[in-house]
Amino acid sequence: MIDYGLQGKVALVTGAGGGIGRAAALAFARSGASVLVSDVNDEGGRATVALIEAQGGKAAFQHCDVSDSAQVKAMVAAAVHHFGRLDCAFNNAGITNIAADEYDEAVWGRAIGINLTGVMLCMREEAEVMLTQGGGAIVNTASINGLVGNPSQPAYVASKHGVVGLTRHGALRWAKAGIRVNAVCPGVIVTPMTAPLVAKEDMRQLLDSMTPMGRMGQAEEVAEAVVWLCSGAASFVTGHPMVVDGGATAV
Ligand code: NAD
Repeated sequence: MIDYGLQGKVALVTGAGGGIGRAAALAFARSGASVLVSDVNDEGGRATVALIEAQGGKAAFQHCDVSDSAQVKAMVAAAVHHFGRLDCAFNNAGITNIAADEYDEAVWGRAIGINLTGVMLCMREEAEVMLTQGGGAIVNTASINGLVGNPSQPAYVASKHGVVGLTRHGALRWAKAGIRVNAVCPGVIVTPMTAPLVAKEDMRQLLDSMTPMGRMGQAEEVAEAVVWLCSGAASFVTGHPMVVDGGATAV
């Protein structure tokens, strides 16, 4: 694990109660940042805080449904309240609807509301704080489904393409203000989201074989990219949708 030199910095992570968000929260803390851990899942979020504290880091939990603007405002305020500033934000909370019909308007609306509108609400509040500080770094979680199509998940694909577009917009809007905005586009990663698929042996083999590297990714492999993008090592990188996909989109 590389130390990305985030001592004295403050990071905020949404959807940090498990999966990629938890791995990123732990990685931010290992690089020295204090972490505002946020999720709708209070138990998962508090467990992430406990894991960070157990490794000697500083963290606090704030419940937040990212599709609710008042809760997003309160979450960003909580980061400043607990730790005094906000330097890095990882807008990662998201849902998928593996079994549901995403052409159903309610299912569609929920996916867009969390995966896309949620990212917009977070970026809006985070940028407001970062502008007063003279800069910061934001990373949004898109997906390889934000870069290529998929025949079965219209809302997921549309929301993640939207996240890539919103990332490019934010990068341009705040480029001269010192705020960098990037995205990560994970391929298939082993997390609670993919657990129902991974649990089926034939499906696991199919998912492994679909990736050129012959395996699914680990949440920590996405977290490394996120912390790097937020660090000074990526000081000239903005507006970039970075794939972490074992070669899936290189095909
Ligand atoms: P996960 O289900 O383990 O984590 C998602 C987290 O988001 C959960 O802790 C959940 O409680 C939280 N969440 C759900 N709705 C929320 C809301 N309205 N407000 C706040 N938090 C909410 O899944 P994951 O795989 O870690 O997914 C994280 C992100 O990565 C998602 O945006 C997902 O779309 C994306 N992604 C995952 C994969 C994969 O293969 N796992 C691939 C590409 C992209």
